[in-house]
Amino acid sequence: MDRFDLVRESFEKKAVPVEVPGAKTSDYFGELVFDRKKMEKYLDADSLRALLSCIEGGGALSRKEADGVAKGMKEWAMEHGVTHVTHWFQPLTEGTAEKHDSLIDYDGKGGVIESFDGKALVQQEPDASSFPSGGIRATFEARGYTAWDPTSPVFILDDTLCIPTVFVSYTGEALDYKMPLKRALKAVSDAAVPICRLFDPTVDKVYSYLGWEQEYFLVDEALYAARTDLMITGRTLFGHNSSRNQQLDDHYFGSIPPRVAAFMRELEIAGHKLGIPLKTRHNEVAPNQFELAPIFGETNLSNDQNQLVMNLMNRIARKHGFVVLLHEKPFDGVNGSGKHNNWSLGTDKGTSLLAPGKDEKGNLQFVTFFVNVLAAVQKHNALLKASIASATNAHRLGANEAPPAIVSAFLGRTMTNVLRKLLELPSDTPIEIAGKTGRSLGLVEIPEIFLDNTDRNRTSPFAFTGNRFEFRAVGSCANCAGAMTTLNAAVAEQLLDFKKALDKELSAGKCLQVAVMDCLKPLIASVIDTVCFDGNGYSDEWKAEAARRGLDVETNVPKMFCEFTKKASVDMFTRTGVYTERDLAARNEVKWETYEKKIQIESRVMVRMAINHIIPAALEYKDKLLGEVARSKEIYGSTDRCKAEMKILDEIDTNVTEVLEKTDEIKLALAKADAIADEFGRAMAYHEIAESFPTLRTPVDKLEEVVDNKLWPLPKYREMLFIS
Ligand code: ADP
Ligand code: MG
Repeated sequence: MDRFDLVRESFEKKAVPVEVPGAKTSDYFGELVFDRKKMEKYLDADSLRALLSCIEGGGALSRKEADGVAKGMKEWAMEHGVTHVTHWFQPLTEGTAEKHDSLIDYDGKGGVIESFDGKALVQQEPDASSFPSGGIRATFEARGYTAWDPTSPVFILDDTLCIPTVFVSYTGEALDYKMPLKRALKAVSDAAVPICRLFDPTVDKVYSYLGWEQEYFLVDEALYAARTDLMITGRTLFGHNSSRNQQLDDHYFGSIPPRVAAFMRELEIAGHKLGIPLKTRHNEVAPNQFELAPIFGETNLSNDQNQLVMNLMNRIARKHGFVVLLHEKPFDGVNGSGKHNNWSLGTDKGTSLLAPGKDEKGNLQFVTFFVNVLAAVQKHNALLKASIASATNAHRLGANEAPPAIVSAFLGRTMTNVLRKLLELPSDTPIEIAGKTGRSLGLVEIPEIFLDNTDRNRTSPFAFTGNRFEFRAVGSCANCAGAMTTLNAAVAEQLLDFKKALDKELSAGKCLQVAVMDCLKPLIASVIDTVCFDGNGYSDEWKAEAARRGLDVETNVPKMFCEFTKKASVDMFTRTGVYTERDLAARNEVKWETYEKKIQIESRVMVRMAINHIIPAALEYKDKLLGEVARSKEIYGSTDRCKAEMKILDEIDTNVTEVLEKTDEIKLALAKADAIADEFGRAMAYHEIAESFPTLRTPVDKLEEVVDNKLWPLPKYREMLFIS
């Protein structure tokens, strides 16, 4: 089959009909989740009570209680045809890990029975020595175990009961994404509650909320399979821009093609059955780029759901003849994919801490949290950037598309004005509700609901959007926990500091309003001049200005990771109980190693494709042209009539030579990099190699322009991006 057959086949594919449940969404929503309703139905009273108190208050189940819970779960699971069980965890690789065990056990009479007990529910010991741990699990302590996280509900995927777990070493270090996230969520609650109680003494807990927006590309599977680079690295390493890409801006508003709509529908149904409140689906800016987003939820749960959705997307896309690309930059020259993390805090009494209040006191509380978040983002702007940095996200960072390589915060006109006024006016000035007070004093006012006050500044990596901040720099294939752990922990630290300062003012006899404002003012003055920026985050002037303001402007990803082990970060993470210093050092080793491996694989694929796919195609065309020239000489006695052929031959020769030279250079650089002993040094060397990729890509893409279309072996951008 040549490329044209693949293209024709892809083009002719029709939408596969989707099996739609003959019921309302609300009837099957959560069908495959062991949620509160199922607990009440399948658990005996003691097990139910124990489990609920464990979910609400932390703590652990006794062996007997765990057995009771497992018994009910087993009954429910078997009604759904479940035969296997797995602990489902999030190691420091992309995606989730599972080790399936069949439910069978010997019955003592020569047969087997289905068995699942509390021990199997609560703890497992996967032979997981090959998961990255940055040396924490050196051989002498190689055991890591997975432990059930009862705050994430158990669910069924196909024939398997999946139990969300944390993955930790026997010495207590977290080996995954979930454990630190849970610690950070606890830290932010513990730090926020004492402040909330000054406004509402009944508050017991503060929740962190996450609403992610997942961007992705779809590409036909036949075309995908013919692109080694996409298959192996998730992105195209070569490929000349399509004559048309996204300049018409028509895809964003366009209707969804039927084959894609069928995929989306099936994904939604599967997600809803798993209790994932998928809400929006639409085209994105680039051709064949799309987005889906659920209704936001508690951060730990919402992140699990994102992991699960990425998994579902991969599986369901194949049914529809597509492959999902979650890579941040699958195609050069068109927009990449991100995963906006909409984030907020709220109390267990239902008050959002990042939305305007219902009265002056509520507004004071809002401003308190609003400013403290900004202060945390200011202090840890470099670290927050490091938390979203990766080899794949590097292609977006600072490359004139979201996100810029500088973490600043967008406030919008209203909140900027509010902060400026608060700074100028005496501390006892109340923050009124715009248009509602009737007192028309209106010195500082916040509208109850932001409508168009938060103009859409798409260039800001951290934007206030009325009732939440949108951390837009997170990569599309990332585990949100990386960013969410850092953000929640940084805010927790800031709230601890703030509370300390506030207590001092309060004990000096100041009223709450004045004490709060006296503590907020220096913070406001500082954030306004540093991290707050409402202009164009992509402009060169901003890069210079940001550096002047002392914001981090580093673009080298391996170097960014060094932020994690700087004193301010270590202090923050240890104080909040999220990471030990050893954790941080080990995790950096993992990050550098992952970075290197990704670049190493890309380098190898590039070199091989250049040698095995590109040069042979170019030489075949060269041969054809030389034949024409030779025949021309035979017939006309000269090559005068072959000016075009000669010109193309020149171009082929020049570029083929260049390709060969560059592949040799990359091979040499790889050998040199691999000889470096320390992880950071090697990562830096690989960074150099990544920077040199365009020198190989450019001549290859030039060849694509000159070589006969019929002879070009790889599906082209225009084919991958426009067939759906
Ligand atoms: P847009 O594309 O306009 O930014 P979307 O509706 O696609 O908005 O996504 C916004 C996301 O933000 C959704 O997941 C939504 O549930 C979430 N969200 C809304 N309010 C909050 C909040 N207070 N805290 C966290 N996430 C929120
Ligand atoms: Mg958004």
